Amino acid sequence: MITNSSNLPDSIYRAVCNDSYDDGGSDITVTSLIKPPHMRRLQVQHKNEIVEDAADRIFSLLGQATHTILERAAADHCIVERRFFVERLGWKVSGQVDFIDQTEGLLADFKVTSRYAAMGDLKPEHEQQLNLNNLLSIENGITGIKRLEIIAILRDWSKMHVSRERDYPKSQVAVLRAPMWPREATEAFLLDRIKAHQDPNPPLCSPKDRWEKPQRYAVMPKGKKRALKLYDDELSAKNHVAKVGKGARVEPRPGEAIRCLHYCNVAQFCSFGKHLLSQKQSETEES
Ligand code: SF4
Repeated sequence: MITNSSNLPDSIYRAVCNDSYDDGGSDITVTSLIKPPHMRRLQVQHKNEIVEDAADRIFSLLGQATHTILERAAADHCIVERRFFVERLGWKVSGQVDFIDQTEGLLADFKVTSRYAAMGDLKPEHEQQLNLNNLLSIENGITGIKRLEIIAILRDWSKMHVSRERDYPKSQVAVLRAPMWPREATEAFLLDRIKAHQDPNPPLCSPKDRWEKPQRYAVMPKGKKRALKLYDDELSAKNHVAKVGKGARVEPRPGEAIRCLHYCNVAQFCSFGKHLLSQKQSETEES
């Protein structure tokens, strides 16, 4: 169910609700394969109980706007938004490929993302998605792919910053190249992921899956709000404080499981997520 507790305009709310996503009757999609199995299992089990707010789906709505871009980018030598299927370990797996340019040998996925996300290294899940989609396309008769790319449209890019910041992207579109895995390695990865998702009791999402930000320690000078430096360990922070003297102190900055608290739509069905949410709730009430 999608709620509208932020009172978004009806038009936006309808646009969020009218999601025509179709997995083509597959048992699992490439997007789901690269999710943590524990999270996906809860999503399947509680499919009819999941409540999301439209305000939390705007990001995904913007991503869906790439359909129009892709339609306009199509040419005779291109394949646009095609879902490919393979069968493995008794499951039908599907993956939707955004864009293939058969002349250039390019397979690309279009994403609307933040400038920050596009400036760092390519995310492992994007590399996995591109390679799995490439394998699916090969299995469906597509040959000659030589390049895998994420074409990132930077939603928060500003022309004003280009001349002010040295490393700022020069254009609102960034191209991130992914390494191409050997076919055998991709096949092995595909089988591993299917097995992980077929496990009836998958292990809890790992700290990496939970996007955990570890606790850090800030060196705070007396009477100032801005930290002099942040440390991963308390001892280094204490040593720095001793050198600064003059009433400086160490301020712990608690870690956070970012995905569990902000980006998991089944946190209320997960024992770990439930605990974190109630902890957060108590902290908010106390402050
Ligand atoms: S709340 Fe965290 S641990 Fe639980 S399913 Fe979601 S991401 Fe995984």
